[in-house]
Amino acid sequence: MLADQFKRKIDYLRVSVTDRCDLRCTYCMAEDVTFLPRQEVLSIEEIIKLIDVFNELGVKKFRLTGGEPLVRKNIISVIEHLFELKKQNKILEHTLTTNGTNLEKYSPILKKNGINRINVSLDSLNPEKYKEITKWGKLEKVINGIQSAINEGIKVKINTVLTQDFNDEEIFEIIDWCKENSCDISLIEIMPIGSIGEKRFDQYLSMKSFEEKLVKKLDLNPSKYRTNGPSRYFSNSNSDQKIGIISAISHNFCDTCNRVRLTCTGKLYMCLGQNDFVDLKFALRNQSKADIIKLIEYAMSIKPKAHNFEINKSNYEGYVNRYMNETGG
Ligand code: SAM
Ligand code: SF4
Repeated sequence: MLADQFKRKIDYLRVSVTDRCDLRCTYCMAEDVTFLPRQEVLSIEEIIKLIDVFNELGVKKFRLTGGEPLVRKNIISVIEHLFELKKQNKILEHTLTTNGTNLEKYSPILKKNGINRINVSLDSLNPEKYKEITKWGKLEKVINGIQSAINEGIKVKINTVLTQDFNDEEIFEIIDWCKENSCDISLIEIMPIGSIGEKRFDQYLSMKSFEEKLVKKLDLNPSKYRTNGPSRYFSNSNSDQKIGIISAISHNFCDTCNRVRLTCTGKLYMCLGQNDFVDLKFALRNQSKADIIKLIEYAMSIKPKAHNFEINKSNYEGYVNRYMNETGG
């Protein structure tokens, strides 16, 4: 079993399977982003090999992310492999976070491969605003994708990044839409990851005051419900819907961190909000499994206590020097 220097048990790996994406969400990456050269990106076989090593070390929960996981060629081979591990009771859960643009095609395949719940990112229900935040996304495609996942019996949780003067008013309508469609929802506070050419401060809306407004308006109570992620959930006595809040900055949750993140180039980030990483690619391509294990164990020994995110008026650059699509959400 993996544990870090602060005795936090690490049993959850988020795997970014590609840095590429068919959208350009304004808070995630710059519009003119340069994607990684293909030779730097791990092959599907290499991703599977690392998943197996982490699994042998006691990691039992896996989330595929990106970039957009469903634009990665042959991604289904990774999902099939995870399902095999699940059938052998070697893992507890495999799931993914997606922007939903390809869900209509993939939902039946995901269901067939044992995926029972997914997170879908959706920041507006207004087609124009959706296009504005994603640069060119088509809302209808995502809604149809979500519907197809629901029809397959996959539980969908919507992820909505709360953005100042963009969707802070609309959020109540989005919560209602989720309720009508039997979806839970997590509201995510913007994190300063990568320089996007805009002040993060102008996008940022602190959950602290927003949470108060939300709880009062929807008559919410804290819920004991937990998933593997950092959401704190609330619910209303008249409904089954869970409303999660992910507030990395205004309500730090690092002391319960149970995860590390693997990028599509084989870098292991111990914290989303720090720059330190351990590179597994060289060992993966040139050394033995024992060498990879040594590096993972070293990574545990230097996993930081907490992130250092900070958002203030004068801060243009993101605190960490990579984009969210590289490390994965
Ligand atoms: N492409 C997939 C998607 O959008 O769901 C998966 C990758 S995306 C990087 C994962 C999650 O990170 C999404 O829910 C997205 O909204 C969120 N995200 C991206 N950039 C962020 C930022 N700077 N702060 C907070 N959340 C962010
Ligand atoms: Fe792509 Fe997801 Fe980033 Fe949006 S948040 S640009 S969908 S990786």
